[in-house]
Amino acid sequence: MNDILESSNVICVILVVCSGLIAYLLSRKSLQQKTYYKKIIDNSANIVVIHDLKCIVTANKTFFHYFTNYKNLDDFRRKHICISDFFEVVDGYLSPPKGQLTWLEALSHSREKKDKVKVKINDEVFYFLISASLLDVKKNIYAMILSDITEQESTKHELVSLSIKDKLTNIGNRKYYDDILQEHITLAQRYPHEFSLVLLDIDFFKKINDSLGHDVGDQVLREYTKFIGYHLREVDIFCRVGGEEFVLILPHTTKDKAYILTQKLRMLIENHKKITPITMSFGVVQYEKGDDAQIIFKRADKALYRAKDSGRNKVIIG
Ligand code: GH3
Ligand code: MG
Ligand code: MG
Repeated sequence: MNDILESSNVICVILVVCSGLIAYLLSRKSLQQKTYYKKIIDNSANIVVIHDLKCIVTANKTFFHYFTNYKNLDDFRRKHICISDFFEVVDGYLSPPKGQLTWLEALSHSREKKDKVKVKINDEVFYFLISASLLDVKKNIYAMILSDITEQESTKHELVSLSIKDKLTNIGNRKYYDDILQEHITLAQRYPHEFSLVLLDIDFFKKINDSLGHDVGDQVLREYTKFIGYHLREVDIFCRVGGEEFVLILPHTTKDKAYILTQKLRMLIENHKKITPITMSFGVVQYEKGDDAQIIFKRADKALYRAKDSGRNKVIIG
C-alpha cells in the first residue's frame, strides 16, 4: 500500500515538474515570439501605432523617424492626443476635426479600411496611406499603419499641375478653364450659386510684338498676368485661353460686383506701365439659367467685342 502511495506521489511530482517545465518552455517561446514580433514591427518601413479612443498607446521605432521632435511616447502624449493633429485639411485627403478620434472608428469600419492623409511635421509635408483595424472590441484598441506615399503623391501633383497650367504664364490653361467652368455651371444648375465670367483681351497686342519683338511680347504676357493675379481674390480663377486672351471665373459674384472689380483691374493695368504700357478690354457676364459653357462664353465674347468696338480699354456688361 505504502509503495503504491509513494509511487503515485512520485508521479505527481513528475507531473508538476513536467507541467512547470512545459509552461516555462511555452512562456519562453511566447516571450521569444513577442520579441520577434516587436523586432519585425520596429523594423517595418511603415509607422505602426496602437491607439485607444483617448490617446496613443504605443508606436514602433519608425514613428520616431518622422516625429523627430519627441524623445519618447510620453513626450508626444504630453502635447498631442493623436497623430491626426498633424493631418492637413485638403480636398481628397482624410482630414478629421482636431482632437477627436471618431474618424478612427469610421475608418476601421469603412469598406476600404484605408485612406490617404497629408501630414505636416516640422514644416515638412508627407503623404501616407493610412489603414486602421479594431484589435480589441471591449477596450476599443485600434492598430493604425501608415505607409509613406510622398514620392508617388508628389509626382502625381506635379503631373496634374503640368496638365492644367499654361507654360508661359503659369496660370490656368484652357483645359483648366473648361473643367472649372463646367463645375460652376453644374453647381449653379442644382443650387443657388451665382458667378460671373469675364473675358479679358490685351488691346493692340500685335503692335507690341511688331514694334518690340515677340520676346518682349512674351515678357508682357508674363508680367501682366502676374500683376493681375496679385490683385485677385483667392477664390477667383484666372486662365489663359488664347494668345493674349484671358478669362476670370468669379465665384459668388454678381455682374454688378464683377463690373466694379473689373473696372478696378482695368485702371490698375493702365497705370502699371511695366515693360511697356498696355490697356485691356473686358466683357463681363453673369451665369443665367439655361447657360452652358459655350453660351456663357459667347455672351462674354460679345460684350468684349463691344468693348473693343467702342474704343478699347473698356468694361462692358453683357
Ligand atoms: P485687339 O485690340 O483687337 O485685340 O488687337 P490685337 O492686336 O491685340 O489682336 P490680334 O488678334 O490682331 O493680335 C493678337 C496677337 O497676339 C497676334 C499674335 O501674334 C500675338 N500672340 C499670340 N500668342 C502669343 C504669345 O504667346 N506670345 C506673343 N509674344 N505674342 C502672341
Ligand atoms: Mg488683343
Ligand atoms: Mg485676341
